[in-house]
Formats: sequence, C-alpha cells, structure tokens
Amino acid sequence: MSIRSLDFWTRRATELKPDGLAFIAGRFVQSASGKAYENRNPATNGLINLVAECGQVDVDGAVSVARAAFEAGVWSRRSPTERKRVLLRLADLIERDLETIALLESLDMGKPVQVAFSYELPDLVEYVRWFAESIDKIYDEIAPAPRGNLALIRREAVGVVAAVVPWNFPLDMAVWKCIPALAAGNSVILKPAEQSPLTALHLARLIAEAGVPDGVFNVLPGFGAAVGQPLGLHMDVDCLAFTGSTEVGKRFLSYSAQSNMKLAWLECGGKSPNIIFDDTDDLDAAAELAARVHYNQGEICSSPTRLIVQKGVHDAFLEKVIAHSRAYAPGNPLDPNTLMGSMVDAEHCGRVMSYIEKGRAEASLVLGGNRVTIGSSENFIEPTIFAGVTPGHIIAQEEIFGPVLSVLSFETEAEAVRMANDSIYGLMASVFTSNLSRAHRMSESLRAGTVAVNTVDLISPLVPFGGMRQSGNGRDNSLHAFEKYTQMKTTWIKF
Ligand code: NAD
Repeated sequence: MSIRSLDFWTRRATELKPDGLAFIAGRFVQSASGKAYENRNPATNGLINLVAECGQVDVDGAVSVARAAFEAGVWSRRSPTERKRVLLRLADLIERDLETIALLESLDMGKPVQVAFSYELPDLVEYVRWFAESIDKIYDEIAPAPRGNLALIRREAVGVVAAVVPWNFPLDMAVWKCIPALAAGNSVILKPAEQSPLTALHLARLIAEAGVPDGVFNVLPGFGAAVGQPLGLHMDVDCLAFTGSTEVGKRFLSYSAQSNMKLAWLECGGKSPNIIFDDTDDLDAAAELAARVHYNQGEICSSPTRLIVQKGVHDAFLEKVIAHSRAYAPGNPLDPNTLMGSMVDAEHCGRVMSYIEKGRAEASLVLGGNRVTIGSSENFIEPTIFAGVTPGHIIAQEEIFGPVLSVLSFETEAEAVRMANDSIYGLMASVFTSNLSRAHRMSESLRAGTVAVNTVDLISPLVPFGGMRQSGNGRDNSLHAFEKYTQMKTTWIKF
C-alpha cells in the first residue's frame, strides 16, 4: 500500500462527512429520543460530529426489525452461495473505501492512519473474503444410526445476534463478529463503542450497498448502559457476541441468566506473558517483537504486556527492548511516519497514567512514564517500561491497556511457567527459545488460548482466536467462529 503524505490525510480529514445516525431497517435515523452526543477526535479534542444516542426504544425497534427479517427469510433462507456473493461484494466495497475507513478509524480513536491504511484494513478485507468463501463449503453430518433410521445433524442460524464491541480496533472487532454471523444467515445488531462509532456506521452503508436486505444488519450507537444492557437483557435476542473488558463481560453472562439464557460469547481482557529464555537464537528480533507491546498505543487485549526474562540475558535484552521501544514516540496520527498515536480519550489516558504512578511506587521506571501534549491534545503517552517487577505487583496483575511494559525475571523453566500462569487472564502467551522440547513443554503448560513460539501475537482469519479463564470463552476467526452463530439440530427420520 502506498504512503500518503500528512498534507493528503489532513486535507481528506477536512473533506469527510462521517455518518452519525443510527442504522435501522435499512435507513439512517435519529435516535428515538432525538438525543445525540458529541464525538471528538482524541488527537485534537476537536468535534468530529454528533452521533445518535440510542436507548431502550431504539433497541426494541431494531430487535423487532431484525427478528422480522430473520423470520421472513429474506437473508436467512437465501442459499449459502448467494450470501457468499453478497459478502464478497462487501469485501470489494471495503477495499474501495480503504482511505475513508482508515481516516475515520484514526479520527475516532487516535490510531496512526497510515498503519490502518497499509496493514490493518487490507488484512481485514481478507477476513471478510475468508468468512464469505467459507460459508458454502461447510458440510453437516449424518450420525451412524440403526438400519431404517436416518439421524441428521445440522447447524442452523441462531436468529438475532447482538454484537457489542470495543474501541481499540473498531472495524476489525465489528467484522470479526458480524460477518460470520451474517454469513451463517443471522440478523445482526451491532453496538459500537461510544468512542468509535464511525466505521460501524460506514460498514452499514457498505453492507446495504452490497445487497444485504433491509433489517438484517442494524447499528445502534450509544452508551453501554443505554444500549448494550438492553440488548443483553432482551428476551428476543438469541446470541450475544461481546468483545471488551472482563468486568463488562461478566455483566453479559448475568444479562443472559436474568433473561432468556441467550448464548453469551465473550472475548475479554488480557495480561499476556512473553517469556524469553537464555537460549533464544535471535535476541534482537525477539526484542523488536517485545517492543510491539506499544503498537496501537498498547490498546490491544492480546499485547505481550508482561515480559518475563531469564536472568542470564535479562540486562542485555532489556537494553534492546528499550532501544526498539523508542521508535514508538507519540505523534500526530495523520503523519504517515507516526507509529504511536493518541490514547482513545482523556479518561482512558488518565487511567493509564494512574497505573504508571502505581508502577513508579512499586518498580523501577526505565523508559518514558510521561503524558505528552501534541498540538491541542494532552492525550498522548510515552512508551513506558518498568523493570524489577514482581508477580504480586499491581502492574504485573491488572490490564493497563496502554503503552506500558512490565519486566520480570526468572531462573528456571518451572518458575517461568508459574509466573506466566499467575494471572486471572489467559488470552495469549509467547515463548522465545531455540529448544524444541522446551517449546512444546511450555505450550502445554501455559494457560492461554494461543501460545506463540518465537513470535508474538500472530492473528489470522484461518486460526481460532480467544481466551481461557477470565479472558473469555468463545473463539473468533476460523471455521470455529461459526459455532457461535449456529445451533445444532438433530432430525430423526424413520423409514
Ligand atoms: P468495555 O468493556 O468498557 O466496553 C466494550 C463495549 O461494551 C462497549 O461497546 C461499551 O459501550 C459496552 N458496555 C460498557 N458497559 C456496558 C454495560 N454495563 N452493559 C452493556 N454494555 C456495556 O471495553 P473497552 O474499554 O471498550 O475496550 C477495552 C477492553 O476490551 C479491554 O479490556 C480489552 O482487553 C478488551 N478487548 C478484548 C479483545 C479480545 O478479543 N479478547 C479484543 C479487544 C479488546
């Protein structure tokens, strides 16, 4: 993907007219109350637009429209091949609008626009194509039943799926949930995070243009308690697909229990260990990967935020990680050379800074630690590293969700496993070693949904992604994603 200049992105930003209305039944509409909230760019604090502030009435309306579309079969009963064609068209449309989408994402939540444009969004187009292509290649089963009986085992669409997503990768998270759900034939209601509604609304525009019938896909912008909670508690929603914090994820389990026992799939927080053994082949490459903890301003659930280094290489390795981390100096997200943009908003920035203060009290600050003002915004934070962290420290236990790395040290393999597993989370873990047997032993011992050996945080549409323990239960991506949006049905036929 070619590099666009700062001037180019700045000019394009002034020309944009982002959508701000809710999308229900194929139309952009005001919230039922007429209320709208101010959506601001965290990198400048400037107003981007007013966004519909939906509530219970909008939720009820969207659920009834989605249910009616599902029952009418306008999408749910179309053949998998027809749904595939529509979703492949959607992938082309996302590709067509890549510049606009990258810019909307950057203005909404502060990420570097060129990174979104060159890497994240082109990858995302492949996700859409992959889910689209999969849906007419999945076969059902026939059980080995007694002679004269046929036992069919089919997976059918669940019905109405509500997807509630966070702000760190707004369109990625929306696509990971909504596209497999749609491919499987469901109706979908998407609630984007209040900080980042713009690409969800643009997605609605493209989904309609691709040919998904009215009412099948709906977007309700607004706040968690006003939109997420009524969706969670709704008696006519069949499935909740949530990505966000562990705290809110637990609420979704209780929404399900309090209402209709709807399926509740959770992708929640993380505090992923990255273990570096003395026998690592290429320490420099490992250090460069370890410094990626600052990628996306550190606002990544699966980021390797606990660096656990064997004593023999600890000091030399730490020096290398510090050197590589300096590349993530905060800058204007519209500058194509910027690798780290602004935090999502002032509130989150304050929360990350309060963790940095706790870190200063319990460990040694070896890089960064400061809030930075760029232009008219104070929402930037330097890449920050603490050494001398021990497993009991707050900054070794709690998810910070910012550019903050906690470095611990160990002597034996058993100690490394103990430290790595000493967490309420279990999303991702990395191990660097040249010893194949050790790599397998570690992979078996680490309690994480994904273990990466000699790399960090690899993600692909072909491979399941999700957590153990309080990082969640479901799996996004791969054919396993369809298990969340379909239910098993058995049919006995006697002949
Ligand atoms: P969050 O939990 O605050 O919000 C996520 C979504 O839930 C938002 O749309 C929000 O409006 C909604 N919400 C908030 N309160 C609610 C309530 N009471 N009832 C219903 N809905 C409510 O998370 P966030 O701050 O947007 O995102 C950061 C978190 O997301 C981090 O913990 C991060 O680890 C996690 N995350 C996890 C994954 C993963 O795949 N495991 C991926 C990205 C982010």
